[in-house]
Amino acid sequence: MSGLVPARIFKIMIVLAAAFGVAEARLAWVQLGGGGGRTEGAVAGLSQQAYMQHSDPLELDGGRGQFTDREGLPLTGRTVRVLAAYPTGGMPRGTDGRLRALAETLGARPEQVAGWLDGIREPLVWRKGRSGPAVALTEAQEKRIGELELTGVAVVPYVERYRNPAESGMNALHAIGYTAQDPSRMVKLYSKELAKGKAKTSDPIGEAGLELSLDRLLRGVGGTFAVATTDGARRPLAGIGIRISGPANPHYPLQVRTTIDSRVQQAAEAVLKKHGIKEGAVVILDADSADILGMVSLPAFDPSKIGAAGTDSRNHALIAVPPGSIFKTVTLAAALEAGVTTLDEIFRCIGTYGRYGLNCWLHGGHGVLTVKEAYAESCNVVFAALAERLDPAVLAETADKLGLGRQIGWQTASFVDGKPLRLLAEEQPGAVFASPDAGKDGGVRTGTGIGQRDVRVTPLQAANLAVTLLHGGRVQSPRIAREIRYADGGLLASMPERGAPSEFGSIKPATAAALREAMRAVVTEGTAGHALGANEWPLAGKSGTAELAGKRPALNEQWFIGYGPAKGRPRYAVSVLLENRKAGARNAAPAVFGDLMDALRLMEQAESGPPVRS
Ligand SMILES: [Zn+2]
Repeated sequence: MSGLVPARIFKIMIVLAAAFGVAEARLAWVQLGGGGGRTEGAVAGLSQQAYMQHSDPLELDGGRGQFTDREGLPLTGRTVRVLAAYPTGGMPRGTDGRLRALAETLGARPEQVAGWLDGIREPLVWRKGRSGPAVALTEAQEKRIGELELTGVAVVPYVERYRNPAESGMNALHAIGYTAQDPSRMVKLYSKELAKGKAKTSDPIGEAGLELSLDRLLRGVGGTFAVATTDGARRPLAGIGIRISGPANPHYPLQVRTTIDSRVQQAAEAVLKKHGIKEGAVVILDADSADILGMVSLPAFDPSKIGAAGTDSRNHALIAVPPGSIFKTVTLAAALEAGVTTLDEIFRCIGTYGRYGLNCWLHGGHGVLTVKEAYAESCNVVFAALAERLDPAVLAETADKLGLGRQIGWQTASFVDGKPLRLLAEEQPGAVFASPDAGKDGGVRTGTGIGQRDVRVTPLQAANLAVTLLHGGRVQSPRIAREIRYADGGLLASMPERGAPSEFGSIKPATAAALREAMRAVVTEGTAGHALGANEWPLAGKSGTAELAGKRPALNEQWFIGYGPAKGRPRYAVSVLLENRKAGARNAAPAVFGDLMDALRLMEQAESGPPVRS
């Protein structure tokens, strides 16, 4: 029989097709089981070929572009072997014994599998639950299913877009996002393609993350399908097989190389889990390039069950929330730049500011202390006083110079297709004052100076603030993707490292150095001493706690931003945001930061081999 190709050869053909995307090779045959019910059409002589038909196609891969981490490890689009079943037009698939053996091989109840097979009206793959992910088969399962020779049942290569967290050891990535069917958005965004028949309203469309921001580039040129050859009554022809065909264009699907480091991402997830964190975000930036190495948002989400209870597909790393005392970094920068204080100026904190109902967090006050000590101890009274010395416009401009109150994620006015692109589509700009005039009010100004009132900062901005200080005040634009390549390796587009300068200029390198000195003091003598003082890497940073207005019971946001190692060449800048924490509880963010820095240090040591004893 001409159409029958030995199993080993078709596997090789699929591998060739996948590896080289060669047009002629992107066609392969899978043997369809032929045990049960041979029919008159099964013996396909030349004269009968005219009567052959095809089943509906089963989509194995939509052809949408895929994502890898910074080292090229796939983050989406793993090819797995799955069970596919085609309608048989009432033809029996095999003996009861063989169907039971199939159920046993799949680890399912026989009636469940029989019910599934009986109900098939279009080709389907075997899934976890009704709409869950396709079940990946082991080699042993595949071999066993082949031996059963059931009619209209085959094992086919299937591209699983999102990794199963249980198998990958990593949650779904908010940075990648997800796709869904969304006909109204398809009509809105792709009316031309729909009119030309190049898209269908049922096509998946990016709803969040890079799936959303890069959607127009990811769409590809068509899917890969498995079609069964059938007789005139559309019953599968035993022994004829399933034809797998993909688009002839060797450039697709595209591949997006992100800046995510899978190990860093996993380390951050593990640390948050260890601390029992349910809600919040962690951002880890490369201290040199501001590349996003890890970005965790909790609660996690499941791309196949968007909106399920206890999940959240919003990326909390890009949502602006009250920063609390980490904003004292901006107030200090503004006061130093304006020349209204120095790190050595001496203040006295008696626990209350005496106006606007503003108190220090330390009952009874800090007593006599310098500005540097006030930053290390996070004294509200001193920072309220500094804020009152400042023109509110200067405070807002300094925030802008430090990359706050505006979108800083990588963007361009004209990408490779001539259209604007913002990689982090959901990034919120945050704010300093609710309105330009708000800062005229002393209560607003002092509250703003300690990160309360209307100040809003995203975890991404907070981590990038640390990078900015390490760069002497130069604001970098964090990237989440570096380049887009064709399937055959050629470069389609790159996203080069880019700055995100403020229209107001930048702070002086001397101011950045003073802020780094103050951040180091937070760990050596200040609020984070107990949590971070004993870490092997010298660390620097700033803690913060922000009261959430109107929450009953009272809830806080807990923050830490910082970098490490604080001596030599810093490698990582990190923000930790723990959300909706019980008011009055100890800020756990410094400990999360410390454990994460430890994990990153161990990761680097493992990379460079065991330390040499001297
Ligand atoms: Zn104080």
